[in-house]
Amino acid sequence: MKITEVKTYNLKYPLVEPFANSHGWSTARSAGVVEIRTDAGITGWGEGSSIPSQSAIHAHLIGKDPSDIEVIWNAMHQHGGSNIAAISGVDIALWDIMGQAWDQPIYRLLGGAFRDRIPAYASGIFKKDKSDITQALMDEAKGYVDQGFPAVKMKIGFGEAYDVKNVAAVRKAIGDAILLAVDANCGYDVGTAIDVGQKISENDLFWYEEPITTDDVDGYVEIRHALKVRVAGGEGLRGRWAFRDLIQKRGLDIVQPDVSIAGGFTECRKIAAMASANYVRVLPHMWGGSIRLAATLHWQATIPDSPQVLNSIPSLFEFDMTENGLRTDLAKEPIRAVEGFVPVPQGPGLGIEINREVLEKYAC
Ligand code: CA
Repeated sequence: MKITEVKTYNLKYPLVEPFANSHGWSTARSAGVVEIRTDAGITGWGEGSSIPSQSAIHAHLIGKDPSDIEVIWNAMHQHGGSNIAAISGVDIALWDIMGQAWDQPIYRLLGGAFRDRIPAYASGIFKKDKSDITQALMDEAKGYVDQGFPAVKMKIGFGEAYDVKNVAAVRKAIGDAILLAVDANCGYDVGTAIDVGQKISENDLFWYEEPITTDDVDGYVEIRHALKVRVAGGEGLRGRWAFRDLIQKRGLDIVQPDVSIAGGFTECRKIAAMASANYVRVLPHMWGGSIRLAATLHWQATIPDSPQVLNSIPSLFEFDMTENGLRTDLAKEPIRAVEGFVPVPQGPGLGIEINREVLEKYAC
């Protein structure tokens, strides 16, 4: 089999209602999509947080055998890692082609699924432009519990007063039985992260995500030692080298590689192996369109519980509850959470079919 054509699409979906994390307001969602065609009539789809350049496509993809996935990954990679987000989309598309060629879902090519549906946490509860923000956050969180989610994640990092008040309010709204994670999106320095962390951890937090900037390894180690709460992070890191110190120095309890940023299935498997060897839990990050959603489900299905015990901490899937037509409309049959679980696609490859009308509609 040979690659005959590669198309790339930059997609943008304008939000009806803007929302904010600790860094600022979002008014649109985006995705980089790669379509790889072959002489066997198989088309693979990938999504990365950026798209490959035309020169990389012609040098490393056109005319190549799509099953040489490791060889292509290494040929495309430039040390320094800035292009790994683009390689991620290519890598996902190549695995999609291989799955279709073998008539098997990608998770099976990766070694098989430990679960055919994944318990999910509702990821949302952003800051919005509301007159009573606390009540709005409580209503949103309670809504997810009513839909059957066993866990929710809310945004913090807006200052001590906002965080302390609203984490307590959300905990009250969801009750004691629901897992609650908080995400500061790298919004604090180490001292503030520890101070705020001590105050909000009275609310029985499942994890404290990205309290500080991603690459401050010593800062993460300091926070982990100071707080009695699991610390999570790493969603923006690219390639195994970027994860190495954070994992080996135990800066995190939970590492969150993103399959569309960290390097696709090929690289995320290596990062997961490194995490396993260092007793760090892997819970993938998912924030994107339909292709990324399907790809993350395939990968997360293949990650064993850690530790493998009777009452293991669940492998929770990040189910993005915010408005994004690239996630809800790009696949002909959208992937939905049912009673707090997300089903792993069972068709060959990624197991989704792309709606080309939606693709054209949001291409910019
Ligand atoms: Ca996050």
